[in-house]
Amino acid sequence: MLNVVIFGAPGSGKGTQSEKLINEYGLFHISTGDVLREQIAKGTELGKTADSYISKGQLIPDDLMVDILAHVLDSHEECKKGVIFDGFPRTIAQAEALTRMLAERQAQVDVVLGLEVEEQELIDRLLKRGQVSGRSDDNLETIQKRLDVYHNQTKPLKDFYQKENKYRAIPGMGSIDDIFENIKSVIGSL
Ligand code: AMP
Repeated sequence: MLNVVIFGAPGSGKGTQSEKLINEYGLFHISTGDVLREQIAKGTELGKTADSYISKGQLIPDDLMVDILAHVLDSHEECKKGVIFDGFPRTIAQAEALTRMLAERQAQVDVVLGLEVEEQELIDRLLKRGQVSGRSDDNLETIQKRLDVYHNQTKPLKDFYQKENKYRAIPGMGSIDDIFENIKSVIGSL
C-alpha cells in the first residue's frame, strides 16, 4: 500500500501527474477539487457552499473539507490499496487530520511529491487552461488570489512534511514525461 500526496501550487501539474501515477501504480485518485466540482455540477447544497468559496479563490473551511475527505475514504474500498491525494491537504489542520484519518485505517502518508514551478509559468498555464476548462476560478483575478492562498496557507506544509522527512522536491518545469520519470525514481527509492 502506498499513500502519495501530490503537492504544489495551482497549475503545478498535480492533476496531469496524478493521471500518470494512476496508470503506473493503480492507485485510487482523490482530487478534492474534482469532488467539489462534481457537487457543483449536481447542484447539491454542498456544491452551492463550495462554489461560494471556489469562485472567490478561497479555501473551503477545514472542518467541512475533512468531513468530505473522510466520506470519500469510507465509501471507496479501493482506498485500501493506496491513494493519490491531489489537492489535499491544503492547510496544516488538514495535514494533521489526514495523519489521524490514515492512522485510524492502519496507514500513513508515505511520500509527498512537491511539484516546484516558477510563479509566472503557473499563471501562464492557468490562463491557458482557463480558455478551455470553463472553470470559474481560472481567470487572472482569481488565479492571483489562489496563488496568495497557496503561499499563505498551503506552502507551510512543505516545511511540515520536510520535518517528517516525507517531502521530495520534483522540478515541475520540464516535459510531462521527464517530470514523471523523476517521480518514478523517487517512488522506486522508497
Ligand atoms: P483544485 O482543483 O485542487 O485547484 O481546487 C479548486 C478549488 O477547490 C480550490 O481553489 C479551493 O477553493 C477548493 N478546494 C479544493 N481542495 C481543497 C482543500 N483541500 N481545502 C480547501 N479547499 C479546497
